[in-house]
Amino acid sequence: MTTRRSRRRIALVAHDHKKADLIEWAEFNRGTLARHNLVATGTTGRMLQAQVGLDVKCLQSGPLGGDMQLGALITEGDIDLLVFFWDPLEPQPHDPDVRALLRIAVVYNTPTACNRATADYLISSPLLAAADYPGALHKD
Ligand code: PGA
Repeated sequence: MTTRRSRRRIALVAHDHKKADLIEWAEFNRGTLARHNLVATGTTGRMLQAQVGLDVKCLQSGPLGGDMQLGALITEGDIDLLVFFWDPLEPQPHDPDVRALLRIAVVYNTPTACNRATADYLISSPLLAAADYPGALHKD
């Protein structure tokens, strides 16, 4: 039988004009985030390390393939929650990757927050610590 851990794997991404928003959100939720395993696209991750002091595994920058790496992690069952503050007001050079990441998150039933209010709901959900939640959570 599959065992579940309460330490989740949380992926974080923010487009440039949304980075300040994500950093502020992460500062507010620093204590909670620090109890989980964090992974992020390059620039977002380095900002979370430097400005919030969180331990974050940094992938490639989004436009250089970071979104695709996150998508691959989701397909492997290695991401429990995606916080993706994408920018609805600016075109992105890697829009196909952004769309692919959002699509694969839905395919794999990955809880996904694309704005701060949703991120607040997810991070404060009792399901975050529910050892027996049957969604796309831990495979080990
Ligand atoms: P970044 O990537 O964290 O490296 O800026 C985010 C993105 O643009 O997808």
